[in-house]
Amino acid sequence: MKSYPFDLQQKVALITGGSRGLGKAMALALATAGARVAVASRHLPTCEATAEELRSQTGRDALAVACDVTKPDQIHRMVDTVLEQWGQIDILINNAGINIRQPMETFSLETWQQIMDTNITGPFLCCQAVAPHMKARRSGRIIMIGSIMGEVGLPHRVPYCASKGAIHLMTKALAIEWAPYNITVNAIAPGPFMTDLNAQARQDSEYFRFLADRVPLGRRFGDPEEIGGLAVFLASDASRFITGAIIPVDGGWLAQ
Ligand code: NDP
Repeated sequence: MKSYPFDLQQKVALITGGSRGLGKAMALALATAGARVAVASRHLPTCEATAEELRSQTGRDALAVACDVTKPDQIHRMVDTVLEQWGQIDILINNAGINIRQPMETFSLETWQQIMDTNITGPFLCCQAVAPHMKARRSGRIIMIGSIMGEVGLPHRVPYCASKGAIHLMTKALAIEWAPYNITVNAIAPGPFMTDLNAQARQDSEYFRFLADRVPLGRRFGDPEEIGGLAVFLASDASRFITGAIIPVDGGWLAQ
């Protein structure tokens, strides 16, 4: 009998920013599909709490790892920790990201750099760190978390939009470079979701309405669990002929 192509049993996933928000939702989805999942972020206690939730909700093993993706040495330690624990990394989700909203001329160079270090350099270094392992095994799934803001702009988000546009092109360039190694590289481009990243929108009803009104499917924000299905698909054998794709999960925002 053929195995179910969405099944992630025997797979190991590493998710940066997996402690909360969309990263946590994807961690839960992947664990539910059978994967062992390592969740990483700057705060180990939050990662540990999430790993415990994954274990209790799915019965799968989970690992908490402290890692600031703006620190190259910590990225290498994170990858080594997962390999020492489980001996393999099949799926890397580059999800950790920040957004700081201000008028263009008020951004300091330091803030610009902080956004770039987290949103672009972090994923770049994480891909480099898993490269020897995935290339040697001639197998891997890399999922970048881009944004609809990598395709279209909104005011007060110049560094964020620039970083997400770069992630979308990094996805395509790397997909081509690593295709000969059977490593697929795809990006999910989320629309607005109810996470801490959008704390401002949760408090400001006018701003919330402004964003939600741009979502044709229900005039609402996404629920984090609505990103899980695509993450499982892109991590699984079902997507083995897909690489270099930027796929929106945005309730139709980008279709307009
Ligand atoms: P949250 O703010 O809810 O969560 C961000 C996660 O990233 C946390 O786990 C945080 O943990 C971690 N993180 C932040 N900085 C670092 C760092 N330097 N090193 C390691 N981990 C870090 O954000 P979302 O879940 O909403 O966003 C996840 C991704 O989705 C981001 O890339 C974001 O740009 C993207 N996205 C989100 C949208 C939305 O509407 N929510 C829309 C489009 C894209 P800790 O603080 O412990 O480090």
